[in-house]
Amino acid sequence: MNIYIIGAGIGDSAHATTLNMGQGACQAIEDAFVLSECLHKYEITKAFSEYQKLRLPKAHQVVKASWLVGKMAHLKNPILIGLRNQMLRLTPTSVNRKQNELIFQLAEI
Ligand SMILES: Cc1cc2nc3c(=O)[nH]c(=O)nc-3n(C[C@H](O)[C@H](O)[C@H](O)COP(=O)(O)OP(=O)(O)OC[C@H]3O[C@@H](n4cnc5c(N)ncnc54)[C@H](O)[C@@H]3O)c2cc1C
Repeated sequence: MNIYIIGAGIGDSAHATTLNMGQGACQAIEDAFVLSECLHKYEITKAFSEYQKLRLPKAHQVVKASWLVGKMAHLKNPILIGLRNQMLRLTPTSVNRKQNELIFQLAEI
């Protein structure tokens, strides 16, 4: 039993996330939801492997995106800051909306 829990941790223990997107607790809650659904649907070994399969790509995507947002937010070079600000101004709303939709999409169990 412990082996499964270590192999498929939830929340920060599995995917500690920088604060930049306000997603750490959200992702931990999503983990708990998906894991409970998997435990309801499958026997225990399959439940944990399905949970990992369902959650890993999105959790990692959020960790990486949050890290990148932090890097961009803390730029020191004035030229890079100007480029970042210009890029953000020029990013179409539809792109931002699409990214938000991906964050709020739940895995199909
Ligand atoms: C300043 C700040 C702002 C944040 N803002 C946001 C936000 O706006 N939105 C968002 O979604 N997320 C935010 N987060 C991230 C969020 O707080 C975490 O991602 C979330 O709390 C992770 O939940 P967790 O249950 O995995 O871990 P934790 O909340 O860290 O819970 C782990 C628990 O385990 C306990 N524990 C540890 N070791 C042991 C042990 N050996 N035995 C028994 N108990 C133990 C700890 O005391 C703790 O209570 C923020 C974090 C910080 C620091």
